[in-house]
Amino acid sequence: MDDGKISTVNYPVVIAGGGLVGALTALLLARGRQDWRIAVLEPQEQGPAQDKRTIALAAATVALLEQIGVWQQVAEKASPIEHIHVSDRGHLGMTRLHAAQHGVAAMGQVIAAAALNRALYEACLQETNIEWLGGAWFERAEREPDAITVHYKQQDSEAQLTAQLLIGADGQRSQVRSDAAIGMHHTDYQQVGIIATLTLSQDLDGWAYERFTDTGPVALLPLPDQQASLVWSLSPEQAEQTMQLSDADFLAACQCAFGYRAGRFTAVRDRVQYPLQLHLAESNICHRSVIIGNASHTLHPIAGQGFNLGVRDAIELSALLIAANDPGSYRLLSEYNQQRQTDYQRIIRLTDSLVRGFSNQHVPLVIGRNLALFGLDNLPPIRHLFARQTMGFRNA
Ligand SMILES: Cc1cc2nc3c(=O)[nH]c(=O)nc-3n(C[C@H](O)[C@H](O)[C@H](O)COP(=O)(O)OP(=O)(O)OC[C@H]3O[C@@H](n4cnc5c(N)ncnc54)[C@H](O)[C@@H]3O)c2cc1C
Repeated sequence: MDDGKISTVNYPVVIAGGGLVGALTALLLARGRQDWRIAVLEPQEQGPAQDKRTIALAAATVALLEQIGVWQQVAEKASPIEHIHVSDRGHLGMTRLHAAQHGVAAMGQVIAAAALNRALYEACLQETNIEWLGGAWFERAEREPDAITVHYKQQDSEAQLTAQLLIGADGQRSQVRSDAAIGMHHTDYQQVGIIATLTLSQDLDGWAYERFTDTGPVALLPLPDQQASLVWSLSPEQAEQTMQLSDADFLAACQCAFGYRAGRFTAVRDRVQYPLQLHLAESNICHRSVIIGNASHTLHPIAGQGFNLGVRDAIELSALLIAANDPGSYRLLSEYNQQRQTDYQRIIRLTDSLVRGFSNQHVPLVIGRNLALFGLDNLPPIRHLFARQTMGFRNA
């Protein structure tokens, strides 16, 4: 080393954050490089966080999870999306998409994020070359030419370890990103999405619905036991008022906006609201560190692409790292950063069109929420192209 300091590299890779993207990345790296020891720092003491999110997984994400043996552990808790119904309240426009027409059994799967995170965590525990440090918070890093020293807190004591590369998979408020002084671009769409779980009078039976209304789109995704995941996009003022409604009044308002195509809405739970914003890091990399998943980009759930995009971060980063001698080399990290930009821009364009389409009742687009699907009913090739993109297949 040119500054004369001696540094012991304990780990080729340290990952801060054992959420969905961090745990998946650990698994891909551990399987690809059995000669490496990989440390995961995760603040939760016992496995991953128990959040209440329900996420739609693109078909390509499910295929990857199947390939690494994780899907088999959660498949029975997931609901397949076999058909999508998109309609426009007050207009005749309507389209239906069927997975079978696009050569797949399901266009995606809906699952509780906590169940998937637990399966990924348990798979990590099976790998002898992953060291899962529960209750550990990344605090700061010291960068040297050939190594990075990672300072973290565990059970109120300060600790450190040294690595060739630090991966920040520590979510939207990433400490790795702040520590590396990586700035963020923000876009505020001045809309709010209300997310909730509804109980219905009938099973959705594999159908996902997107309905355009005067106040914004309402989307329903199928869940087991006659339940559905609701995403309802409204202006901030309307969202504020709607959130204050009693459960009965909320159900009535929602039913009025959506109609009865999916039956009666009989109960609601886990109501939360999210501002419709987009956050994108100015860069994914800094000397001997890289940020992935929500640490790099946070999309509004209306696009339903956040985790799917993070999965592609994990795949592309691990493919490059596995083949490398020095996983923290700047050349390699730059290549990764460069490589991801096209995908980010594609997803941002998609999110932008969704949001701007939502706020304009007269735009003749039909849009599938959560699968971010554009389908022009009378143009099957375009519909097929969008369906393939939505399913996570980029080379449609
Ligand atoms: C309501 C909602 C619905 C969504 N729906 C979809 C969908 O349908 N489809 C889809 O693809 N995506 C969806 N998303 C997005 C998806 O949930 C995220 O993209 C995904 O969770 C990102 O995973 P992550 O691992 O990057 O971040 P997170 O899940 O936020 O995980 C970050 C991890 O880092 C840990 N951490 C935090 N601070 C530190 C620290 N200092 N040191 C170490 N670790 C730390 C946390 O404990 C956590 O485990 C949705 C999101 C929301 C909010």
